[in-house]
Amino acid sequence: MIRINENYPKLSSSYLFSEVSRRVAAFQASHPGAQLIRMGIGDVTLPLPPSVVSAFRDAVQELAAEDTFHGYGPDLGYDFLRGPIAEIDYRARGADIDPGEIVISDGSKCDTANIQEIFAHDLHIAIPDPVYPVYVDTNVMAGRTGSFRDGRYGGLIYLDSTEENGFVPDLPKSRVDLVYLCFPNNPTGATITREQLAAWVDYARKSKALILYDAAYVAFIRDPSLPRSIFEIPGARECAIEFRSFSKTAGFTGTRCAFTVVPRDCKAWDSAGGAHSLLDLWSRRQATKFNGVSYPVQRAAAAVYTPEGQEETKALSDYYLGNAKIIREKLGGLGFACTGGENSPYIWVKTDMESWKFFDLLLEKAGVVVTPGAGFGMCGEGYVRVSAFNKKENVQKAMQKIAGAAKDLAV
Ligand code: PLP
Repeated sequence: MIRINENYPKLSSSYLFSEVSRRVAAFQASHPGAQLIRMGIGDVTLPLPPSVVSAFRDAVQELAAEDTFHGYGPDLGYDFLRGPIAEIDYRARGADIDPGEIVISDGSKCDTANIQEIFAHDLHIAIPDPVYPVYVDTNVMAGRTGSFRDGRYGGLIYLDSTEENGFVPDLPKSRVDLVYLCFPNNPTGATITREQLAAWVDYARKSKALILYDAAYVAFIRDPSLPRSIFEIPGARECAIEFRSFSKTAGFTGTRCAFTVVPRDCKAWDSAGGAHSLLDLWSRRQATKFNGVSYPVQRAAAAVYTPEGQEETKALSDYYLGNAKIIREKLGGLGFACTGGENSPYIWVKTDMESWKFFDLLLEKAGVVVTPGAGFGMCGEGYVRVSAFNKKENVQKAMQKIAGAAKDLAV
């Protein structure tokens, strides 16, 4: 008899975005013709930049001729992409990373989900709260948690990110072997300082723990004092893996390209105390289960590192940061406490009521859709996430609608 993976039914049933869609559909059915503005979207709205499109098109053309055709590519990615990543994203910023430590993939979602496969099953895993749901759900699927009770899974160590700690979790008080960190953060938009990140690196080295550092939103950092990579912190090569994606940096959410950086110094131990290279394990995993990102997509991603590509992609994040500024200023002016939006495309807004209640009120009174913070974890209760990924006109219209409905939103 075929049987299921019994960890799947443990997943908490109300997946955030399907519940948002359900409520929006119900509202539209009862208010036909109502014009809604969606400010909850975590997807880009601007097209691929011209230099990326041109490299993409040229690479497709190469596939059309026998003498320039490419079949399977190298398992871990083409050197024409790994080289510029090492040079521009890392070495130019004083982070000692070489191209051989960069593994190209089709997304940070899959990389952050799949990486756990190379670790022991009975680890002490720490997860921030609120959190990008993929880290939690994939650990549930892998059977690394207990069941879901009172808003949390048994077996995980939750690191509260609250107003009190500026949405940067404190170091764990109990033993931790693996910890997920994400900065600039989804959903709070918070950033981490060099000193705070150095404290995490120090903690991880001392406790032989590993930090999984998700830097999917690095392109939005403008404050020069903030670290862009965990590898700018001395010692991080021994205790951290970093995930980066072209999704939000260059509009690749539908095109799909990302990379994971695993320094050679990064080790993990077997039960007999033997040390193993995580780069070897991850390379082996990818070579066995993944057949690479297509040649034209890697050529398109490499175009991001040309001078024109750098300028054009910066213009993309500048545009969304312009939207974020409008959101912050408008909502702040209405009396809402806001975090994020300065070095991040997300603004975390304190609602002074349950987040789903605020979601419903905002939908009903202003016709604006946001993402309820409670869907990202217990500590997200009392907040909503507002996204700057939108057309500027929509952002301005949404802010006008919210201002018009302010008296109904109890601010
Ligand atoms: N990490 C975080 C924190 C994200 O918010 C997202 C996407 O929303 C991802 C990773 C996924 O990125 P990708 O499109 O590369 O799979």
